[in-house]
Amino acid sequence: MKEKTRNLDPVILLKEVGLSPTMQRVAILRYLLLNRNHPTVNMIYQDIRRKIPTLSKTSVYNSLNLFRKHNLVFTVPTDEDEKHYDLRLTSHSHFICRECRIIYDLKLPKININDEINGHKVEQYDVILRGICNKCKSKKS
Ligand SMILES: [Zn+2]
Ligand SMILES: [Zn+2]
Repeated sequence: MKEKTRNLDPVILLKEVGLSPTMQRVAILRYLLLNRNHPTVNMIYQDIRRKIPTLSKTSVYNSLNLFRKHNLVFTVPTDEDEKHYDLRLTSHSHFICRECRIIYDLKLPKININDEINGHKVEQYDVILRGICNKCKSKKS
């Protein structure tokens, strides 16, 4: 079985999980859909504030927490204090560069949803690989 492809319309995504599509929630979710660079609360807030000046950083944080509870987003487990958010639309793995701290999306082969690994059925996966990215590696050599 394949992962179901989910609709990329923020209003429909919110309704799918039973959340009312308020202007703020739609704006935050749209930002995440358009910016697949694992943004922090600060990055999201700085951008959306230009369109919704009444927005507070706390309400961005609260919305993201709500999205997380409804399995729309997750935080990439980095060793930084600031959390990096990512959409949980498709399972993918991450590579974190120890030099530039950029979080890259990775598609690793051979892990499939509904595979059984050691008798455990996989429903989603988020593997973190760490090291030095190709850009930083070529700068050094
Ligand atoms: Zn790097
Ligand atoms: Zn990602």
